[in-house]
Amino acid sequence: MKEEGYNPFRTAQAQFDKVAEMLQLDAGTRELLRNTQREYHFSIPVRKDSGEVEVFRGFRVVHNDARGPAKGGVRFHPQETIDTVRALAMWMTWKCAVVDIPLGGGKGGVVCNPHDLTLHEQELLCRGWVRQVGWDIGPVRDVPAPDVYTNPQHMVWMMDEYETMHAGKYPGVITGKPVGLGGSLGRTEATGYGVVYTVREALKEVGIDIKGTTASCQGFGNVAQYAIELFQQLGGKVIAASFWDEGDKTAYTFRRESGLNMDELRPITDRLGAINKEKATQLGYEILPADAWIEQDVDILIPAALENQINESTVLKISKRVKLIAEGANGPTTIEADKVIHQRGIFLIPDFLANAGGVTCSYFEQVQSNTNFYWTKEEVLQRLDEKMTTAFHAVYELAKRRNLYMRDAAYVISIDRVAQAVKARGWV
Ligand code: NAD
Repeated sequence: MKEEGYNPFRTAQAQFDKVAEMLQLDAGTRELLRNTQREYHFSIPVRKDSGEVEVFRGFRVVHNDARGPAKGGVRFHPQETIDTVRALAMWMTWKCAVVDIPLGGGKGGVVCNPHDLTLHEQELLCRGWVRQVGWDIGPVRDVPAPDVYTNPQHMVWMMDEYETMHAGKYPGVITGKPVGLGGSLGRTEATGYGVVYTVREALKEVGIDIKGTTASCQGFGNVAQYAIELFQQLGGKVIAASFWDEGDKTAYTFRRESGLNMDELRPITDRLGAINKEKATQLGYEILPADAWIEQDVDILIPAALENQINESTVLKISKRVKLIAEGANGPTTIEADKVIHQRGIFLIPDFLANAGGVTCSYFEQVQSNTNFYWTKEEVLQRLDEKMTTAFHAVYELAKRRNLYMRDAAYVISIDRVAQAVKARGWV
């Protein structure tokens, strides 16, 4: 989303340029991969419940589909910009490539605030979005998914509109559908569990037993809750997490040295990942300021809320005890803070590797939808573990062999895979 002076697409291109140089990519490949492959910009007229028509701006961008159909969410957000969509599409290309799933990168969006729209108006917006791109998306071409402010219900409306246009059943056109209507078991857990699969492997590599390690998280939403659940099942202890309190318009950290108990916390947590402070206090949790999560004397930090959270000032608050940072959120670390983390020798699992469990499970959903045969939750999670573990080790081995920072190693692997695909196809 838009921030003064910050253009995410320029950042994405700068990251690409650095690695293109390391890989000595030829000029044609660089030109192709630093730009988007195709873009759709369109208007979506919606007749609102009041009878008035409001026209929304919509986008779908495919950054690259050399490795397979494009994959990426559709955001509904008032500050959506085409450059945000372009950047997110490019990052999707690298994310799919790093976990080696046969998909490219795409992203979509609508400039709107769904909170100001009734459910009926949201349905018309979803159907209107599909009517504009319904001939350019599809199970073998480009597969949308939920993202910020879009959910499984929006995906069902979009699928239904697509199926009406194409006169058939094509559940593989979209992912993030509810279980029972083409969704996959395990999708809810996938991103958080995926983060912990990579944490588990990283700890093995540095010779630390996960049992007895401690962690602190930023955020207590989908990613954080399932990361905490699995980390604790494996014997670790999470002592703190933070959340945004909409009532107070501020974030807080909650902490309990003996560890968070998910069974008692879930019932006092709302849909948006905020806990009830009074009830938490009664259960023995301390309520601390927003940044307290990053100051904890723990072994592992898991930022799992927003972008730009570990920055020039907050990075200085990280305890000397921290050995590992696993980026559950997208883009939680600024370029300045990244340098400090690198210099301090903290093991970093970069976002597009650590949180790739979500897209990997979406890929599994697509496979199940396309074959019309659905797997058990155990099968989904076992395959997810295999994919994440293999991807982690490929990045780690390269980082070790070429003495690279983990983020750079992950970029080298993904960009090299996509560059090889465009070359093999004879595009460059
Ligand atoms: P979510 O909406 O379920 O939870 C977000 C959490 O962050 C909530 O607990 C909220 O209270 C908290 N939060 C918001 N602002 C905060 C602040 N200023 N300080 C502290 N906490 C704050 O979101 P999610 O699905 O868990 O996603 C979290 C991050 O992970 C995002 O960056 C998202 O893009 C990324 N991600 C999510 C998935 C997925 O499958 N859910 C996949 C890949 C990446």
